[in-house]
Parts: sequence; structure tokens; C-alpha cells
Amino acid sequence: MSGNSLEEAILKDGRHTSLLVRHPQTNQIWLDLTQARRRVTMALMLNYLAGKQAVQVEKLLLALKYLSEGNHISTFGGDKYRVRGDHGLYTVRLVPAGCDCPLFLGEGKFVGKPGVCSHYLLALICVA
Ligand SMILES: [Zn+2]
Repeated sequence: MSGNSLEEAILKDGRHTSLLVRHPQTNQIWLDLTQARRRVTMALMLNYLAGKQAVQVEKLLLALKYLSEGNHISTFGGDKYRVRGDHGLYTVRLVPAGCDCPLFLGEGKFVGKPGVCSHYLLALICVA
């Protein structure tokens, strides 16, 4: 892998650099990731940047923060994960993709705007 970091990808895109101010730990977390987790994370980030998916860019940085903090995810019932976010405890599935939080379901303030959440992304990165 080249020297390209997640932070460099965000800076190069230029549209979401303010998120790096809110997530100053991003580069250190990136350095601590395994190669497999870096590959998954970078592929997701480049996809979200290309698609101008600002919410998902932020949720990916949040998922990394949860990963670095530890104790945000636990497995139960085989393919299900229990993930603790800033707003509650949620159940995540990778196949088919799912989470019972308002963002993923498009509920509450996300009505009509469902999207991939930090809980699902944390599980996805963790299994890499
Ligand atoms: Zn969720």
C-alpha cells in the first residue's frame, strides 16, 4: 500500500476537511489499523467521497472512533452484533445489511434519507 492515508484522501477531496477538525484522532487511528481494515476503510471512504455522501463520510470517521475506543461492539446470536453508539444500543447484521437505528431505517430526523450508519460500518471494519 502506498503512503496514502485516510486523512490524505479527505484532504485531497477537499469537501469534508472540517470533519478532520471534529475527528482529530483520525490519522492515529488509521496508523493503528491492520492492513485488511485499512483496505476496507479506504474503499468505503473513496466510495463515499466519490458519491458526495457527506453523512456517510462522517459516519465512517465515527465508526473508526468507536473502534479506537473499544467496547462499542459485541457479537451475539451468530451473525448479529450489538453496537453501542452515541445515542443508544443497536443490533447490526452484515448479511443482509441492517441496523435498527433511525439513520439506517430512515426514521426520525432521517425520514426519507436512510443511510449507512456508524454502527454497521463499525461491524464491517471489525470483521475485516
Ligand atoms: Zn445503525
